[in-house]
Amino acid sequence: MITRMSTLFLRTLREDPADAEVPSHRLLVRAGYVRRVAPGIYSWLPLGLRVLHNVERIVREEMDAIGAQEIHLPALLPKEPYEQTNRWTEYGPNMFRLRDRKGGDYLLGPTHEELFAQTVKGEYNSYRDFPVYLYQIQTKYRDEERPRAGILRGREFVMKDSYSFDLDDDGLRSSYERHRGAYIRLFDRVGLRYVIVAATSGAMGGSASEEFLAESITGEDTFVRSTESGFAANVEAVTTPAPAAGSVEGKPAAEVHHTPDTPTIETLVDFLDSSGERGFTAADTLKNVLVKTRQPGTREWELLAVGVPGDREVDMKRLEAALEPAEVELLEDADFAANPFLVKGYVGPKAVQDNGVRYLVDPRIVTGTAWVTGADKADHHVVDLVCGRDFTPDGTVEAADVREGDPSPDGNGTLEAARGIEIGHIFQLGRKYTDAISLDALGQDGKPKRVTMGSYGVGVSRMIAAIAEQHHDSSGLVWPREVAPADVHVVVAGKDDTVREGAERISAELDEAGVRVILDDRGVSPGVKFADAELVGVPTIVVVGKGLTKGVVEVKDRATGEGTEVSADSVVGHLVGLVRS
Ligand code: ATP
Ligand code: MG
Repeated sequence: MITRMSTLFLRTLREDPADAEVPSHRLLVRAGYVRRVAPGIYSWLPLGLRVLHNVERIVREEMDAIGAQEIHLPALLPKEPYEQTNRWTEYGPNMFRLRDRKGGDYLLGPTHEELFAQTVKGEYNSYRDFPVYLYQIQTKYRDEERPRAGILRGREFVMKDSYSFDLDDDGLRSSYERHRGAYIRLFDRVGLRYVIVAATSGAMGGSASEEFLAESITGEDTFVRSTESGFAANVEAVTTPAPAAGSVEGKPAAEVHHTPDTPTIETLVDFLDSSGERGFTAADTLKNVLVKTRQPGTREWELLAVGVPGDREVDMKRLEAALEPAEVELLEDADFAANPFLVKGYVGPKAVQDNGVRYLVDPRIVTGTAWVTGADKADHHVVDLVCGRDFTPDGTVEAADVREGDPSPDGNGTLEAARGIEIGHIFQLGRKYTDAISLDALGQDGKPKRVTMGSYGVGVSRMIAAIAEQHHDSSGLVWPREVAPADVHVVVAGKDDTVREGAERISAELDEAGVRVILDDRGVSPGVKFADAELVGVPTIVVVGKGLTKGVVEVKDRATGEGTEVSADSVVGHLVGLVRS
């Protein structure tokens, strides 16, 4: 079927939408692919829906190819399964909750581990049934704090989620590898440039996990990669190489010094330098940052002190990831007032630990290292406070910021930072969910065996925004062919009958040959048609105009802008070849 611009439900916009900050959002709205309904909630118009269906088809093909089977679960879910795993509370404010007329609690599914596990439990019970992979392509709901950039971060969005069920850890690892392979193939097919990074597993629980990040400066995820090796990781997942612990023997004794007006690391270092004894830098100081944390479902906040070398900041995202699923907030003045043992600007490990506050430190703070830190008294610091002698932290925490130039955790090279859009996430969940609902299979030996699970997500709708971020220019979108809403965009550039008839004939023959055609048959100027063709972004544009009297039409490559004259008689064969190649 030929898509005619004269009747296509499409109005392109000349102006950028006022709320659009990133190119994909601007262009998908201007080219009439999506329309905003409410924050983070979008409608798909005909061209957008085609791209969505193309992406879904590729995802289905690659999932089917690893033996995964498609099912479809409801998006409207009862609370009970999520209560069994504690996610009804743990998921926090991102979950859309609602009540039915009888007062029953429901939610709109943000992800479906519970329901998939329950579904498998309902049907399977023998070792012969496993492994099994199930997936769905479904609308997900998350009440995101900051919906952003159109379909990039929606509150309603399309996700492919699949789940693997295995009898043992080796099985889980191989299921994970197969999903990883399928993801590589599908992201390659849609034309995305991406990296695979080590990730933290967050609220999901579980162990091994990797994210697929489409490289883009507009991405919200900062990741780091090694300058030398293939190491790449989400900043939240970077582990700090710890120096070897040293001896505490023979270190100078700790001494409290009067250091007037030195509540910040900078003022402290200046003061120590001007007092002249030794050359101190910020890296010799130990900064203690106070936060409060609260476990999901509880009301009490608990104090926590985090010690990091003074030349680094506490990265709240890293700290939150480390303390997941707890909420974390910095202390306010009122909290300091309520805990007078905390002397703002001069907090040391002693007051913290003497008052029962948990004290976690950066992995660089190992036994035998000496620090300048707060003496728990205004205008006083202690010098040569030795870890393992004068204080013993309650543990370590990955909270300090990660910087370009830091050593790569794999020991090869240093780290550099880049930004990306998370398009996929794969987890080896393990037994968190199967334990919660006792999902067992009867083993060969007649004994029940606990099933182990993997969970694998693809942001189907977000992928379209990511593709648009990577494939556009100043005139519009530039779709990779497999996802494009059509193969060829035929522009009728002239009013006389020969031109119109020529374009109709070419379009009809292309359509017959299975090429997807958009035909711009509107009664508007060629200039408007060219601009719209570039905005819409179909990979090949055919201009049928005056040249037809000489028997030629122009075939333009949308990506390179290059145009070639092709004889009108052979253009169909030429285009069929182009599309199939
Ligand atoms: P993010 O960190 O971006 O919020 P997430 O880690 O919470 O994502 P997952 O739970 O891993 O997301 O979901 C699987 C995939 O679904 C993600 O990799 C992403 O591509 C997509 N996705 C998640 N949230 C959204 C959203 N709000 N809008 C569009 N796609 C999303
Ligand atoms: Mg994720």
